[in-house]
Amino acid sequence: FTVYGAPVIGDHQRWLGIVIVFQEITELKRLEQIRKDFVANVSHELRTPVTSIKGFSETLLDGAYQDTNTLLSFLEIIYTESNRLEMLINDLLELSKVEQNGFRVNAHPTDMEAIIKRAIEMIQSKITEKFIHVKLEIQPVLVLGDPNRLIQVMVNLLINAVTYSSSQTVITIRLLVEDNQAIIQVVDQGIGIEETEIERLFERFYRVDRARSRNSGGTGLGLSIVKHLIEAHHGRVEVDSTVGIGTTFTIYLPLAD
Ligand code: ADP
Repeated sequence: FTVYGAPVIGDHQRWLGIVIVFQEITELKRLEQIRKDFVANVSHELRTPVTSIKGFSETLLDGAYQDTNTLLSFLEIIYTESNRLEMLINDLLELSKVEQNGFRVNAHPTDMEAIIKRAIEMIQSKITEKFIHVKLEIQPVLVLGDPNRLIQVMVNLLINAVTYSSSQTVITIRLLVEDNQAIIQVVDQGIGIEETEIERLFERFYRVDRARSRNSGGTGLGLSIVKHLIEAHHGRVEVDSTVGIGTTFTIYLPLAD
């Protein structure tokens, strides 16, 4: 606790009493620490690709461009790192938008089956690349949602499912109605997540295995964005996972009627 005290003095310097304020600072400290960590993370994540782009282009300008092989391989690195930077900037802008207090989604009756199919189409090349089989267990459901936001949520979950699975495995997508709400599940047979990591999963920049996840191309912001988007729909997200067996993300959404 922090304690503040101040006398309350009325007309003619008359003492009326004392105001004492007890303030709980552990929560404030925790929030301050989260903010500091976030700033440190953003700086680190932005600086890494910039340093690499600068370093490789400087080396090329110093003369390395004359060797065609070096030129090509350095250009490739510069291109990859610029893409990474772009993704990071987009995700940061997106996160700051969805985290705002007044953020609202444009919700109306939406065919969830169509959303799921569209999301699969959007990442089809990643699915094909890893010879992953996508199994649909779907019934027609109208949810109350913003189609573009829901596609974004599904794409995020599906990309993760593909990224953290080995090739030739199965990803099952379920869509059903239970207790008057829509349930969407993305079930993978991937590496899984330790129980102790699960509660931190939705934190900004949190990654279970920093190096591996970073190399996989994600920004570490995807699940934070998913959580905010689903909460803006008055829904919720749950994770269930077993290391070595796989992970299930479950989303609950309100029905349209
Ligand atoms: P990233 O861009 O690193 O994938 P996310 O916010 O989408 O960031 O996910 C955070 C972390 O959660 C990932 O780095 C990964 O460690 C873990 N994760 C997310 N989805 C899965 C999954 N389906 N299977 C295993 N681990 C996952």
